Amino acid sequence: MMPEPKALYLPLCSERFTFTDIRVEDGQKVSGGDVLATDPENYAVPLLAPRAGTTVHLNAVENHIVLEDVALLEEHADIAEKEMLHVERQMGAAGIKRYKLLSLGAWQFFYDAFTGALPDPLGTPQAVIVSTLSLEPFLTRGDVQLHKRLLNFTRGLEHLQSLLEYQPIYLVMPNISSEFANLIRNQIRGYASVKMLEIPLKYPYNHFAILARRLNLKSGGGPVWAVRTEGILAVDRALTLTKPCTVRIVSIGGIGVNRPTHMKVMPGYPIQKIKDKYVFEPAARVINGGILTGKILAAETLGVDTECRGITVLRELQEREFLGFIRPGWDRHCYAGCYLSSLRKKFRERLTTGLRGEFRPCISCNYCQEVCPAGIMPYLIHKYLYADLIEEAEQARVDLCVECGLCSYVCPSKIDLRKQLIDAKALIEREKEEIRQEQLRQEEARKQQEEARKQSEGNNE
Ligand code: SF4
Ligand code: SF4
Repeated sequence: MMPEPKALYLPLCSERFTFTDIRVEDGQKVSGGDVLATDPENYAVPLLAPRAGTTVHLNAVENHIVLEDVALLEEHADIAEKEMLHVERQMGAAGIKRYKLLSLGAWQFFYDAFTGALPDPLGTPQAVIVSTLSLEPFLTRGDVQLHKRLLNFTRGLEHLQSLLEYQPIYLVMPNISSEFANLIRNQIRGYASVKMLEIPLKYPYNHFAILARRLNLKSGGGPVWAVRTEGILAVDRALTLTKPCTVRIVSIGGIGVNRPTHMKVMPGYPIQKIKDKYVFEPAARVINGGILTGKILAAETLGVDTECRGITVLRELQEREFLGFIRPGWDRHCYAGCYLSSLRKKFRERLTTGLRGEFRPCISCNYCQEVCPAGIMPYLIHKYLYADLIEEAEQARVDLCVECGLCSYVCPSKIDLRKQLIDAKALIEREKEEIRQEQLRQEEARKQQEEARKQSEGNNE
């Protein structure tokens, strides 16, 4: 656990959420668990105050809510009783539980397995995937979170089960034999609706979309909820204790860190304090998330965001390495196997932000296709996008990309394929949405015309 901070800097944006509906005023005192803001685009998911007895500053730092005089007092659950009554009338006891999950910050840990978006908290999934694995290098490991919390985990699973009718819960475990893994297996055997899925400890087999495909779940069959270990622990906290879920276990790792570790922090925890304690590199690139899928943490972001799972630090190369692209690379890996390092056995890699080569056009080496777990051809889609052939990119199934980043990692031409494919997916989605909206407008206009015609016929009679 990191020491208690004096001030918290809560970013108003995270990977999926943008908290635009501010619910507090400048200078207001808040208690731990109070709603500071919500995201109206995501079922009003709340940004909760992680600590009590604080003062809010809305304009002190752009895109942050700053809490000062942070104090560790008894937390309180900010649940609107009126809304609860309404939900109970509409959906019964299961509805109340779902409403609690949303209000107490546990729902933020859920994903739609196919799209990665926040699922509808009142929706009905065809299945739930619970993954105990986190395989991207440097990100918080599931077994670390489960350590000493197995009881909370199984209780969380029971709560989850009580939200469903007959839909299965798939628990994803590593296909290894360890004392702890066997302990979990034995515990889970007693739960009839929890089915075990064992997978190799290899990135990105733990990706939710890949797991859904492996389980033969089709997106046409309805949403698939997906949640990791920390989400199940949050479900337990929200539904057993009715307490807000504001603490996260976050990893700090990478080559620029003196002691890779897992730490308990709350959203808003000052990044600078973490850097002071763990980062030894004077020139470091700090990444919010893992090395393959994380985003560079902008200097303007002062605190840990609500969805942070790990912070990765790499040494920032400030100068280009002289003839870096032909240097043999005895101390770093290359997928192409053309570095001397391919002659070595396993070794600790000197990962930096250096590109080890040049930006250049695609050389059709096919490496990106070889590594792609979605079975698509990233280089082909890249060429279609380069020529603005969006329809062809769609036909090449860009939608199947799970955004794992392996293609960008292996590409010797340094093409950021992952980003290009993500942008293309978003563009196609936007275009589809526009077409949907246009069809709805036309349908509405047609109905109105029909209505007007019937009315005028009635008047004539
Ligand atoms: S295209 Fe790239 S980012 Fe997408 S799934 Fe394949 S390897 Fe991963
Ligand atoms: S890895 Fe890069 S250079 Fe090789 S085929 Fe894919 S896009 Fe082209």
